[in-house]
Amino acid sequence: MSVSAAPHETDVLIVGGGGAGTSAALHLALRGTRVILLERGQIGGQASGVNYGGVRQQGRHPAELPIARRSREIWGRLPELIGSDAEFENTGHLKLARNAAEEADLVAYLDVARDHGLPLQFMGNNEIHETYPFLGPTVVAGSFAPEDGVANPRLLVPGIAHAARSAGATIREFMKVDAIHHDGHQFLAEAGGEAFRAPVMINTAGFWGGAIAERFGESAPIAPFNPNMLVSEPMPYFIVPNLGVVGGNVYLRQTRRGNIVFGGGFGISDPSVPWSRPLPEASRVIMGLAIALVPALASATVIRSWTGIDGEMPDHIPVIGPSRTTPNLFHAFGFSGHGFQLGPAVGSILAELVLDGRTDIPLDAFRIDRFAAVQ
Ligand SMILES: Cc1cc2nc3c(=O)[nH]c(=O)nc-3n(C[C@H](O)[C@H](O)[C@H](O)COP(=O)(O)OP(=O)(O)OC[C@H]3O[C@@H](n4cnc5c(N)ncnc54)[C@H](O)[C@@H]3O)c2cc1C
Repeated sequence: MSVSAAPHETDVLIVGGGGAGTSAALHLALRGTRVILLERGQIGGQASGVNYGGVRQQGRHPAELPIARRSREIWGRLPELIGSDAEFENTGHLKLARNAAEEADLVAYLDVARDHGLPLQFMGNNEIHETYPFLGPTVVAGSFAPEDGVANPRLLVPGIAHAARSAGATIREFMKVDAIHHDGHQFLAEAGGEAFRAPVMINTAGFWGGAIAERFGESAPIAPFNPNMLVSEPMPYFIVPNLGVVGGNVYLRQTRRGNIVFGGGFGISDPSVPWSRPLPEASRVIMGLAIALVPALASATVIRSWTGIDGEMPDHIPVIGPSRTTPNLFHAFGFSGHGFQLGPAVGSILAELVLDGRTDIPLDAFRIDRFAAVQ
């Protein structure tokens, strides 16, 4: 691609406009930093805009909990921060056990949660069926996270981007970053026939973040991750909490207008296009599992199914933090199917890394070079 005009100069160049990238743009702009974010398609057009909408801390890897705790605090003040609540609703998250081994798993997690200040209420067989009479006999116990909830993924990223623009950030859509390199002092990127130059770059390109990192000599073994999703026609509203199970093979929630959103299993994708498709075989399995969990769903009519493309790392937690090869390059990608809840905090952490050179959130578990030994 030939680029003739002089490069656009900025303080920080961000590649990728999902939850992580737009949130970084917002937090940097709020601190007076000049930011340009380049997004290949529409902001929130990939995983951040098509996910299940679970805003869940319960069940996370212990290393993620400090980020999830900070993010939950931000979710609670989204109206002040971005002028929209993205339909975040504090419904609670109820994680269910269907046998003794799963129940033991729930009990073991209570200690992890306590260490991180995450409130959880464990319920045995009698209590769970008394409290949630719609649950089927397959359920033997549950753990309720009262601070968790759900939100509308279609609304979060546009809301953050709107606030970021109002704070002075430049967000450019349909600008795929092609050529990109560091000349020893600055980053130079080309997108849409235009050139961009900045001393700092943030890689928040989702699944495609692995390829961006590779251009700087950093290998992160990332794989496409395509959760299979379904939605039913509206039914009378009766399921308040966001429901999950130990092992995660089915999860479901009901919107206020009555649709049941449920997921489990995986679809397929080709991230090079990109496209993604749900699979009918996976959908049939989820429907059976969902009916076992909530028998009244036998009368639900599914009206749509879909999936999306997230990046999965071998240890199922993301890469977050500075590059190990290139000064002033920062990564946050590979959220392994659970980065929607984390997005608001990830942007604030990236802004701290860029502007303060540090953050209070422990990031060692997310180092990009943690895979070097296993390759
Ligand atoms: C179906 C599904 C259900 C999920 N459910 C949940 C859930 O309930 N709760 C939860 O917490 N998480 C969930 N997740 C995970 C969550 O959606 C993702 O982890 C999170 O949204 C990732 O955010 P991101 O900003 O890293 O990536 P993305 O949202 O993928 O954003 C990255 C952006 O980078 C852009 N980009 C890539 N390459 C370039 C380039 N060269 N130039 C410019 N732009 C580029 C892409 O177009 C994309 O918009 C789900 C994911 C999927 C797919």
